[in-house]
Amino acid sequence: MNDNTTESVEVLVVDDDPFVREMICDILDENSYRTRQAEHGRQALDILQETGSIGLIITDVHMPVMSGIELVEQVRRSDTGIPIIILTVNSELSTAIDAIRKGADDYILKGSTIGDTLPLSVVKVLELYDLKAENRRLFEDLSRKNAELERLAFIDGLTGVANRRYYDLTLNSLWHTARRNHQPISMIMTDIDRFKELNDTLGHQYGDLCIRSAARTLDSLLKKTDTIFARFGGDEFAAILPQTASDEAAAIAEQMRVRIEELRVTDPETGRSMDFTMSFGIFGLTPEFGSQPEMLLEGADAALYDAKHSGRNTVIVRDL
Ligand code: GH3
Ligand code: MG
Repeated sequence: MNDNTTESVEVLVVDDDPFVREMICDILDENSYRTRQAEHGRQALDILQETGSIGLIITDVHMPVMSGIELVEQVRRSDTGIPIIILTVNSELSTAIDAIRKGADDYILKGSTIGDTLPLSVVKVLELYDLKAENRRLFEDLSRKNAELERLAFIDGLTGVANRRYYDLTLNSLWHTARRNHQPISMIMTDIDRFKELNDTLGHQYGDLCIRSAARTLDSLLKKTDTIFARFGGDEFAAILPQTASDEAAAIAEQMRVRIEELRVTDPETGRSMDFTMSFGIFGLTPEFGSQPEMLLEGADAALYDAKHSGRNTVIVRDL
């Protein structure tokens, strides 16, 4: 992108008539622009390629080797975003207008008024390009920020894993993919055992540390890339495992159970820690036509309920 501030702009003047070139350069010089000269379009392209510093092209239409029209086409094909002004005479106005259609930005008439019209056109065209560049920058900045906001809307603030909204959004599509492809899909629901007690004993902040460590530990055991792992809220998490039958999901949950049991979270301020366990409910099936994604959540939730009621720190699988 060219920096089109007046002081730094280098203008390439393209005309086969040396007298016209000198005259244009003199006008530009008086207005503090730096100039380069080319005799025809081909030479102009060579200069553009070798310098990369040209911020504006002012070109004649009819020239040997390569015309101004061809030059406009070539420059626009490479999309360099350099402004181009066409120099023309009254009798060739239609050609100049053709050049504008092909991507030139303005035209000015050669003649006695050029000392006034040329600087005005240059300022106008450069300002337009600066505005366009600024617009592009603002748009890119906005797009980046929007993408970040969108990402944050689906992330749980405490743990950095996906949130319930993301889970809700993806469950449907994973479910329907499984149904279409006649593949199994499973869900693991898990919840920290007697977490209220832990909060009451070592405080809410320590509880937060435990939720964060649990999330990291559970997530690290889900290796398949299409698995969704989300914090449901509080001390509860859920994983959706596409292409996974319930026995495979149960094996993963058992690894999770053991790793959580072994996990030691130490409060960096007090040095204290309190071990905790988690209960796991598994439900899996190969969805059939007419079945609903909510079945997965209901099945896993019921299995988790069983796990809590059979003494906690355990994995329970529910089948259809
Ligand atoms: P159970 O074994 O039956 O699950 O017993 P529990 O004590 O863990 O009960 P339950 O899961 O219903 O309670 C979860 C508790 O987690 C309730 C709430 O005080 C606490 N909690 C919820 N969100 C947060 C949080 O973000 N941070 C902390 N530290 N505690 C939370
Ligand atoms: Mg709990």
